[in-house]
Amino acid sequence: MSNHPETIFDKILAGEIPCHRVYEDDQVLAFLDIGPLSSGHTLVIPKERKAQLDQLSDDAAAAIGRVMPRLCRAVMKATGATAYNVLQNNGASAHQAVMHVHFHIIPRLGPDGLGIRWNPSSLNGDDAADLVRAITEALAQDG
Ligand code: 5GP
Repeated sequence: MSNHPETIFDKILAGEIPCHRVYEDDQVLAFLDIGPLSSGHTLVIPKERKAQLDQLSDDAAAAIGRVMPRLCRAVMKATGATAYNVLQNNGASAHQAVMHVHFHIIPRLGPDGLGIRWNPSSLNGDDAADLVRAITEALAQDG
């Protein structure tokens, strides 16, 4: 199950440190973020102990996917938000601080919420063809 050193989320899962729990089932725990970007900022984690999303089992991923829409609806209803971001960081250079898979549900409440710098380039046709080939080959070799 484990492919990384213990994190603070293991301690939360083990009940060794407290959290403000909003949801739990046999595969998933959701609780309020201790440093919220906006009121209602919620973290959703698998009980399976994996650092990054690409390492998660299909079963654990499905368990999270099953409950995410319901959790998003509940956070929106509780906060009055009509917009929100779901954020999922993988790797330190992608801003992941806690190396246990987690999804952020971040309500957008006026100016409060996730700050985004979006720097698009333009998709080049040759690059796109190469990428589609490489990704589809990788998919075919995986599982
Ligand atoms: P990341 O940057 O890894 O995607 O986000 C990690 C999140 O975990 C941060 O938003 C941070 O506030 C939250 N966090 C870190 N330690 C704790 C903790 O002990 N309890 C709770 N509830 N959240 C935590």
